[in-house]
Amino acid sequence: MVEPWLVDLMTSYNEESYSGREAYTAQVHLPGKVFADLVWWALQALPDEILVGLDVDAEIPHVEEVDERFSAKESTYNLFQGQGYRIKEAHIVNRGDSYSVHHLPEDWTDDMFSSSRGSRAGRFTHWLHTHPNAPAIPSGADADAAQETPGIDMILGLRFSPEGPLPWFDDVEGQRRRVGQEAVPEPTKARRRSFFQRQKLPVLGVAPSGHKIHEIQLIAFHKNGLGINVLLVDEDGYPYGWERFSVQANNAA
Ligand SMILES: [Zn+2]
Repeated sequence: MVEPWLVDLMTSYNEESYSGREAYTAQVHLPGKVFADLVWWALQALPDEILVGLDVDAEIPHVEEVDERFSAKESTYNLFQGQGYRIKEAHIVNRGDSYSVHHLPEDWTDDMFSSSRGSRAGRFTHWLHTHPNAPAIPSGADADAAQETPGIDMILGLRFSPEGPLPWFDDVEGQRRRVGQEAVPEPTKARRRSFFQRQKLPVLGVAPSGHKIHEIQLIAFHKNGLGINVLLVDEDGYPYGWERFSVQANNAA
């Protein structure tokens, strides 16, 4: 089960995926349960970033009516490996700072995954890494690392507290996608604001690690630089909030 506050966030994220669908050349369907795991893992690994390999389920294509509803008029097919198939599972592959996180030990496939990945002990289709207390915007190192990816690359940006050694870093140019609203400090009523009150941000939810989560960002991109639309889907492959998109489409027809 995915926690209710995450379901609400994923629903609003999907609304944006729907209303902004013409801006994307392709889409990827990420199960909400995997998304929740990614958020928890990101916080457990602090202050490191984590690199996560994602596999698709080659038996489970996107639900056709969902794929159609979220497709842009100008879509690209056969753009990347695994396109059109739902993401199945995620494995943490590495952790480190924003540079070292991309550098895997050369023998990592042999030692880490030969048993759990069976005969398919090859590289993963998609990759995701985290930006703790920084927006989900690719750096130069991220763009370089993406050139090796057969599928797509994703970045999960989180804003949380307590911040530890990682104060929120926002001085980055680029297109960002929030899961829910931007975390804007609440205006305080007291005339004399203390330092701590000034930093008071809305709390979306609390992670098992005890961190308060203020903002979640998630983006996906192909190595050629094109943005990929992400849909957060339930166990049946339907995006959270699907009823709303069906209604909107029927009204428009
Ligand atoms: Zn990065």
